[in-house]
Amino acid sequence: MKDLRAQFPAVHQKVNGSPLVYLDSAATSLKPQKVIDVLTEFYSRETANVHRGAHFLSDRATQKFEKARESIQKFINAESPNEIVFTKGTTEGLNLLAQCWGRRFLRAGDEIILSEMEHHSNIVPWQMLAEEIKIKINFIKVTDSGELDFAHFQTLLSERVKLVSITHCSNTLGTLNDVKKFIFEAQRFGAKTVIDAAQSVTFQKIDVQYLDCDFLVFSGHKLYGPYGVGVLYGREEILNQMPPYQGGGAMIAQVTKDGTTYLNAPQRFEAGTPNISGVIGLGAAVEFSNSLNLTKVLAHERELLERATEQLKSFSDVRIIGESPSRVNILSFVIAGQHPADIGQILDQQGVAVRVGHHCNQPLMKRFGIAGTVRISFGVYNTVEDVDILIRALKKAQELLS
Ligand code: PLP
Repeated sequence: MKDLRAQFPAVHQKVNGSPLVYLDSAATSLKPQKVIDVLTEFYSRETANVHRGAHFLSDRATQKFEKARESIQKFINAESPNEIVFTKGTTEGLNLLAQCWGRRFLRAGDEIILSEMEHHSNIVPWQMLAEEIKIKINFIKVTDSGELDFAHFQTLLSERVKLVSITHCSNTLGTLNDVKKFIFEAQRFGAKTVIDAAQSVTFQKIDVQYLDCDFLVFSGHKLYGPYGVGVLYGREEILNQMPPYQGGGAMIAQVTKDGTTYLNAPQRFEAGTPNISGVIGLGAAVEFSNSLNLTKVLAHERELLERATEQLKSFSDVRIIGESPSRVNILSFVIAGQHPADIGQILDQQGVAVRVGHHCNQPLMKRFGIAGTVRISFGVYNTVEDVDILIRALKKAQELLS
């Protein structure tokens, strides 16, 4: 893991006079030099638009852009590159589904199932749709230990349910859900399935054919890649039945004064000049991820999590939120009588970067009767020393706040 850490220039800096301890990878990961180099090279020498130029640079950019699509297809084991739609990120992927799939296939009286641990990006787009089309949204309950309540899920299923959209890994609790079990059950009722893999994609091999989901979304920036780029995977035959929600260049078969016909997926969902550098950078991030031994990454991040959990428990008045044995690299806690924002600020003064607040999980906060948590999350660059520094910094925070 030491060699890996050396590949991330951002970890080798001081913040507020102390060496940076970055414990906020669930918000966004740091970037390896290889990804930074690919972006620099693109902007320095390769800049050109894709899919339309009649010149060398444009051809090369197009080849790299489409090669990235193929790398991502293989990365998640999709059947075809046509099933890989480039988006701005997880949020746009889910909005696209609500607008394009939802408007096309949902009718008043239909039901969809989300869960109490969803990120707002997997709640709000569906609520916006529900305001227009009178669909009902039900939420799978979360147990005290921070897991999806499968028995409750089963009570929500019926022929009225047309979609189940759930997260693979909770961005607050760290719970890794056994989504295959949920997908299988949803399919028995003919419901389509969406998996939010924004967190899991960093440490878990994603295989959409094994999962047998209809859609899956993730963001580049949490996967050691650039900002403003992400992926919507969808089964090709369903994508081609969905109308696009943005019109413009690069997505049309023919435009006349009377109307337009569209290209098939993925182009029909990629109107306008895409995030070319982002997509090529994401291709490099996927290559980086492919070079990792995910079994080792998982074991390393779990070791850090266990060390942090154990040491946190020695603090008085600490409550860890969610203690599923499936957790890998995310840990949330509150300390009685101390505001997460105050703790975060004192940690920051010591160079320790964590996230505080509701983490775009307000229904989950309500479920646990809290306003927010302190969240620590690990990436491949974190070390055992990082955990020890966090604990020392936290002790100082406790002294100052008590
Ligand atoms: N879903 C989960 C589980 C997340 O953790 C996040 C971001 O934190 C998102 C969705 C939204 O991702 P983005 O902001 O990259 O679109």
